[in-house]
Amino acid sequence: MNFWGRPTGSSTVSWKYQGSPWEVVRPDDGQPATRHAVRCRVCDKELTFTAHSVAATRRRQARWRVGAWGGLVLTVATLVAVVTGSAPWALLALPFAVALAWNLGTAAAEEVGVTGHGNGVPWSMPKHAITLADQRPEDLPELVCSRCGHQEHYRWGSHLREGYVREQYQAARTRFERHTCR
Ligand SMILES: [Zn+2]
Ligand SMILES: [Zn+2]
Repeated sequence: MNFWGRPTGSSTVSWKYQGSPWEVVRPDDGQPATRHAVRCRVCDKELTFTAHSVAATRRRQARWRVGAWGGLVLTVATLVAVVTGSAPWALLALPFAVALAWNLGTAAAEEVGVTGHGNGVPWSMPKHAITLADQRPEDLPELVCSRCGHQEHYRWGSHLREGYVREQYQAARTRFERHTCR
C-alpha cells in the first residue's frame, strides 16, 4: 500500500492509500529470510522487503509480546511508585511505560513477517505498508448478515496461531449473533 498525506486544515493531514497486490512465497521454516524487490505503482519507487518464514514470523511476534509484558510490568511498577509516592519521577515515567506496553502489544498483533521500509516497526508510520491477503480458513465461513449485508470481521492469516484464529472467530460469531439490522 502506498500512503500519502494531504493537509486538510492548519494542523491536520488526511491519509489516503492505494493498495496493489503483490505475490511472494515465504521461505520454508528453518530457511533464512529472503529479500524481494517490488515497484510501487503509485510513486514508482523500487522497494526491497524481507520475507520471513512462518516459524520466524511467530518468533518475531513472541519477541514483541515479551517486550509488551515488560512494558506492562514497568507500568505497574511506576503506578505503585506514583501511588505510594516513593519515587517522584514515577509520574513522568508512567506515560512512557504505558506507551511502551501499548506499542509493543500492537506490534505483536500486526507482525506479518514482512519487514523493510518501517513495516511492522512500532512508532513508525510507514508510507508503504504490507498487509496480508491470505487464504481464508475453509472451515471458518464469512459472517455476513443476509438481510443488511453487515459483516463481522475477525483476524485470520497463515502467520497466526490456529488457536488464536479460532478464538477470534468465536468472539466474532458471538458478536454476530447479537447483531441487529439497522
Ligand atoms: Zn509509493
Ligand atoms: Zn443485518
